[in-house]
Formats: sequence, C-alpha cells, structure tokens
Amino acid sequence: MCELEYNARPRRRDDRLRKPYIRKKSWIAEIAAIAAIGVPALLAAPPAAAGDDRPSVLVITVDALRADHLGIYGYSRPTSPTIDRLMSEGLLFERAWTPEPLTGPAMCSMLTGMPPHLHAATRNGLRMEAGLDSLPKTLAGKGWSTAGFIGAWTLKNNLTLLGDHFETYGERLRRRRWFGVLNSEASGEDLTDDALEWAERHHEKDGERPFFLWVHYIEPHAPYRFHKEYAERLGVNEDKLTRVDRYDTEIAAVDESIRRLLEGIKKLMADDNLLIVFTADHGESLGEHNYWGHGRYLYEPSLRIPLGIVWKGRIRPGAASSQATLLDLAPTLFDLVGVAAAGELAGRSWATAARGGEAPPERTHCYQAHRGAVHGGTHDNDQKRSKGLLSVGVIDGDRKEILRIIGKEHLSFDLAEDPLELDNMVTIDSSPSDALLECLGSVSQALGALDRLATQKLDDETVEQLKALGYLD
Ligand SMILES: [Zn+2]
Repeated sequence: MCELEYNARPRRRDDRLRKPYIRKKSWIAEIAAIAAIGVPALLAAPPAAAGDDRPSVLVITVDALRADHLGIYGYSRPTSPTIDRLMSEGLLFERAWTPEPLTGPAMCSMLTGMPPHLHAATRNGLRMEAGLDSLPKTLAGKGWSTAGFIGAWTLKNNLTLLGDHFETYGERLRRRRWFGVLNSEASGEDLTDDALEWAERHHEKDGERPFFLWVHYIEPHAPYRFHKEYAERLGVNEDKLTRVDRYDTEIAAVDESIRRLLEGIKKLMADDNLLIVFTADHGESLGEHNYWGHGRYLYEPSLRIPLGIVWKGRIRPGAASSQATLLDLAPTLFDLVGVAAAGELAGRSWATAARGGEAPPERTHCYQAHRGAVHGGTHDNDQKRSKGLLSVGVIDGDRKEILRIIGKEHLSFDLAEDPLELDNMVTIDSSPSDALLECLGSVSQALGALDRLATQKLDDETVEQLKALGYLD
C-alpha cells in the first residue's frame, strides 16, 4: 500500500493554496477562480460520443520540468507557448506531485501505476520486477499499437525493463550530457524525428488501429544548456546569464520540439481520436534549500509536477485543485479509454471528474526519496534498496510532513501559509503523524522484502553513464 486512504470525505479547498503557484493572473487562473472548489463545478458533462471509444494515446513527459516555470501555471516568462495552449484545452491539475523525484522510479510508476517500493525500481540503475502489468502492456493486449521513445539514459531498457512493456522502444541516444565519454541522451530534435517517423509508419501500415505512444524529452535536465535563439523572447540578458536563465531557455527549446511533435501527430488523425497527457517525471530544485537538482529531497521544487489531460470533445477545459499524483494516470487513462486494468492500482481515476462528475475524494499520499543510483555492484550494500532510502513524506491537504532517515529529522510545513517550506512546524513535543509512520512502514517493509531477492550487476558502460549524469557520488 502506498496511498493512504484517509479523509475519504471531500474537502473544501482554500483558494489561498493556488496563489504561490498561480503567481501571475493568467487566463487559467481566471478559469480557476470561477469555481473555488475545483473540478465538479467546472466541468459540465460533455455528451459521451458513441462508437469512438478507442482513441490513440500520446503521453509526453519532460525531464526535470517545474510546473511553476510554465506560463499555464503563472510563470512570468513566455517559456512554453505550445505547452500552455495544449494544457488549456483539457483538464489541468493545479496540484500534482511525483511519487519519487527521480527519473527511472517516477516513469516506472507512471506506466505501471505502482509506487516505487512495489515496482522495485527505487533508484536509477535498479530494474522493475519482471512481468508487471502496465498501461502499454494492457492496451497492447486490447489492440493498441505501443511505442516508447526515450531521451534519457536512465530509462534504457537494460536499466529499467521499461522497454519490455512496449512493442517498439526507441533508445537512439546520440548526444553527450555533462562530461560523459559516451552519448547518453537524445536531443529534442532527434526524439521528435524518431517518434514522428514511427507514428507515420504506423499510420500508413495500420491506420485504423489506435496507438499508445510515450515520448520522454531530456531537456531541461541539468546542466541547463543555453539556447541563444530564445534569449530575446524570454528577456534573458546574455551578459549576466544565470543558471535559471539557461534552464528557462531549455524549456523554450523543448516546447518547440513538442510543437513539432503535436503538429506531426495531428496531421495523422482527428483531434477527437487523440488523448494527450502532458507531465514531467519530477521538478527541479533551482537553489531552494541550497540544493540544485532533484532526487535527494522531498521539497516542493523537485516533487511538484505539471500535469494535464487533453481529449478534445471528450474532456472540457478546466482546472482541478485537489491533490493528484503520477500514480493516478494509469487508472484515469484506463477508465477514459474503456479498458479494465489487469490488477488493482494504487492511484485514483479522474475519469468521472473529467466527464463532469465528482473529483475523487482527497486523501493522504505517501512520497519517497532514494539515493540517485546504484554503484557498480562492487559490494552488496549498493544493491540493497533499503540502504538507499533517504526520506519519506506525506501530504494531507495543506499539511506536508517529511521524515529524513539519516539523522531522523522530522519536518512539517503548511503549504498554504508557507509554500517555500521555510518554517518547520515540528516542535520538541511533536511526533510524526500516523500517516507518516504508515508510509515509512509500508516503504521499509517492501524494500526489505526486495533486498532478499537476487541482485543485478551493472555493466561498465552503464556505470560510466550514471557517473557522467551525476547520479554516482
Ligand atoms: Zn528525470
């Protein structure tokens, strides 16, 4: 169990919570302001269309993308015109989180609907269990054609087993990142070319068959390349270039790749046959709490993600304000396309809400942070999942709690009053909530069980790449 079923009663949300994220009064903020309680009031039911219940599904994920650096979430710079336009056409999740702020674990969770401690890929370099069910695998069994194209080394099949879940899995990594000796990533251009080539081939060969296509872009992952062509639009001063400036130009660059991807895909089909998901594997800490990057901590900058689901004519534009996670994606998509999941899933379906019904009730969610990557398998402790656990956390409405394993540090924040998580409310008399302890218990127990399974050994090339990506100490 990862998600803790507390607070089954729907909560009335306080509008203050939106302010830190919707800083600028954007048009989506205006939409959100129409209905203080979120989805049910916003989304009147569009009539269900008959006979076209097998849409193609396009899932776009962007690595290390902060929600609050996108225009749709109120960012002041025009980093993301394409993403903003796309997200405005569907259900926008104002409050969404990743179960673990690390690429491999998060993407395995998104596609299987399982939290990291249950699918077992808790660190980069540790594989999922073999034989799990997943969105692409189940849909393939129901007639969907499936393909995944990844821009990040950490998602390679030999590291994750994710490729086993797709009929086609593209790993054309032709570019270096950091100071790596080997090519470890795909540029947005390459990735878009590969995905479009596959979609066009599928259309020619098997046009009537729906597809499930996942594309994972690596930009704007560190070290934040500078894309000069977007400097003027973003108001970047090249003489005083900051890391945040560079990060923002990376978002503009990936936005352009996504524009080209959408344009190409939409040429192949009618809009009402295409269900699109846009999200990120995790966010990125840009100096908050003296930390640059992601993975180690459960603070909002790296835990919070953008999330939107678009299906023209089937999902009316609107904003959802209650807590959602990447684990909700599998049950939601299964419901929307009318296919039963192969087993019980941890997340909740938003399909009813998307059709104008009730949003799922608020409940407490369990989050986890682990060390970045396993080492080369040179000693047993590298392979032990329980040794990699750094923190667990829970979010219950506005209250967030974190328990750091090393040092047994307990933190608690009121996200409405203290969105920057600067004021730890834990006092000497405080004790962790039952929800936090249950989260810790569930995760620890599962990791202990996994440690008793056989370990794997990483090959030399993989160890080299993980070092180059900054995931090995
Ligand atoms: Zn990532």
